[in-house]
Amino acid sequence: MTQNHDDHGHAHSELSDMDLRVRALETVLTQKGYIDPAALDVLIDTYQTRIGPRNGALVVARSWVDPAYRDWLRADASAAIASLGYSGRQGEHMVAVENTPALHNMVVCTLCSCYPWPVLGLPPTWYKSAAYRARAVKDPRGVLADFGVTLPEAARIRIWDSTAEVRYLVIPERPAGTEALDEAQLAALVSRDSMIGTALVHAATQAPAPGTSA
Ligand code: FE
Repeated sequence: MTQNHDDHGHAHSELSDMDLRVRALETVLTQKGYIDPAALDVLIDTYQTRIGPRNGALVVARSWVDPAYRDWLRADASAAIASLGYSGRQGEHMVAVENTPALHNMVVCTLCSCYPWPVLGLPPTWYKSAAYRARAVKDPRGVLADFGVTLPEAARIRIWDSTAEVRYLVIPERPAGTEALDEAQLAALVSRDSMIGTALVHAATQAPAPGTSA
C-alpha cells in the first residue's frame, strides 16, 4: 500500500456521498464555464466503448501466440502494452501477472477503484463495491465461487492490490483445445473478468461460467 494511494483524483467508493459531490461540482463548474458536459460524455464514452476490455484481450492473445511478446510483457508490461497502442491515463505503470495451473492471480483495489483504463476501460460496478474490496483479500475462494469459478485445491491464489502507481493485468491461462485459433479468435474468448481474475477463459465449445457479467 502506498502512502499517496488515496490521492489520485478519481471516484472512491463512498458513492452516495461522492456521487452528490461530483454532481454538485460538475454543475457549478459547468455554470461557471470551466467544463463542457459534452466533453465529459466523450471522455466517458471513450473508456466505456472505444477502449474497453478488447484492448486487454488483444494483449492476452498476443502473449499466447508470441513467446517473445510474452517475455517482454513479463519484463516490462507498460512498454509491451504501449507497443500495441494502449497507453494513457490510469495505465502509466502496468504489471502483467500470469495465471498458471498452480497460481491464480486476482486484482482488487482495497481502498477505492484503481483500475487499468487503457487495457480494460472503466471498472465494473462490482469492482468498486465494498463487498468485493473487502472479501477479495479475506476470502478469495469465496469470491471466486460467487463468480462461478472453482480452482483446484492445490492452486494458490495471489491477490494484487492496485494503487495509484501500479495497475495489474491478469494474463489468464490459454484454454486447451485452442491450438487452431488465430490471434483474433483467441482474443474473442478473453473476457474482461478473466483479466481481473474473477473468471477463467474457456474454449468456445465449452459454456462459460454463469453469472459473471456487470
Ligand atoms: Fe484506487
